[in-house]
Formats: sequence, structure tokens, C-alpha cells
Amino acid sequence: MNAAPAILLLGTTNAGKLRELAALVAPLGIECRSLADEPAAVEVEETGKTFAENAALKATGQAIATGRWVLAEDSGLVVDALGGAPGIYSARFAGEHAGDAANNALLLQKLAAVRGTDRSAHYACHAALAAPDGSILAVASGVCCGRIAESPLGTGGFGYDPLFVVPEYQRTFGDLSAAVKAVISHRGRAMRAMLPAIRRHLARP
Ligand code: IMP
Repeated sequence: MNAAPAILLLGTTNAGKLRELAALVAPLGIECRSLADEPAAVEVEETGKTFAENAALKATGQAIATGRWVLAEDSGLVVDALGGAPGIYSARFAGEHAGDAANNALLLQKLAAVRGTDRSAHYACHAALAAPDGSILAVASGVCCGRIAESPLGTGGFGYDPLFVVPEYQRTFGDLSAAVKAVISHRGRAMRAMLPAIRRHLARP
């Protein structure tokens, strides 16, 4: 008798992240669910001091609450001229319930006097895979280097993407396709490093 196929819970409520994570895991053919479709999902407080700590907290917290395999990630924008801010506080840069527009406006305001190459920044993504008992069985990370534009361009992606210029293309992630972002982004790189572990633990022959 075949065991029931494993389900991978994607541990985020961020619609942009969810879209990207689902697409990056899709080639494995594993059934993915979002937290919105999982009644036992909980709110996990991000009390860690690093992306890696928060990714592990989210993965473990949702796994223990739901009894499922969980892929979680913590990610954000690290701006050199701001001493690494907003970093782990990227989602709430302009306040606890601030949206993308307010966060982007604050970023432009804080960089108003910063010019050219001094506007360097990178995105970071740390991912963690938790087993149903909450233990972390794999971690992976990825970065994507760029700089912050003087004004937003494009409607693609999410979060800070309309302001994040990718040097290889001289265009923002907001202006590039989802396919290009999947190849060169912090999340794409982290997930490609994570896929072998997900396949090993969850894929049925
Ligand atoms: P988290 O949900 O605590 O990991 O916060 C992630 C936040 O970092 C998002 O809400 C965005 O503000 C920012 N961020 C992370 N990855 C991306 C990305 O790929 N594009 C744009 N913003 C991102």
C-alpha cells in the first residue's frame, strides 16, 4: 500500500513570497499548501536577531502547530548606507502594519541625500525546512546584490522590487519578469540550494 503523498506547507502569509516559493518548488511535483489553507496554522512571532533565526522559528512553530512538513523563509533588504537597515525589519520598516508603499516611501526619504554607487544594497533570504515534529532538517540561503533606484519603476514582484535595481540588467525587479527574478533573486538562489533536501525528505519515488 502506498503512503499518502507528503504535503509541504509554505510558511508565509505574504502573497508575493507565496507565489514565488510555490513556483520554485513546483518542479518537484510535491503538493504545497499555504498557511491560509491550513486551519491549525498559528501566528509565529519573529523574535530572532537574524534572518536565519527567524526562518527556523517560523518553520518550527508552524510544523509543531500543524504536524506538517514546513518550508519557511525570512528575507529582507539590507541597505549599506543605512547600516544594514531595514534588514530583518523590512516588512515593518515604516511601522508594524505598514504596507509596501509606505516602506518604499520611507526608504527613498532616508536615501534622499545618498547618490550613485553609495545606494548599494542586497536582498537576503534564509530558508529552513522543518519536519512535522518541528526539527530543522535543512537550511539554505541566498543573496542578490543591487542598488536602490531614485524612484520606483515597474509593477512586478512585491515589496521593495520597484526600487531594487539589478546591475546585470540595469532594471528594477519591478520591471523585470518573474522568470528572470526566479533565476537571479535571493529567494531563487536559496530555494535551488534547498530543493535537494526537500526532494530527499518529501518526494515519493
Ligand atoms: P518577512 O516576511 O519577515 O521575511 O519580511 C520580508 C520582507 O522583506 C517583505 O515584506 C519585503 O518588504 C522584503 N522582501 C523580502 N524579499 C523581497 C523580494 O523578493 N522583493 C521585495 N521585497 C522583499
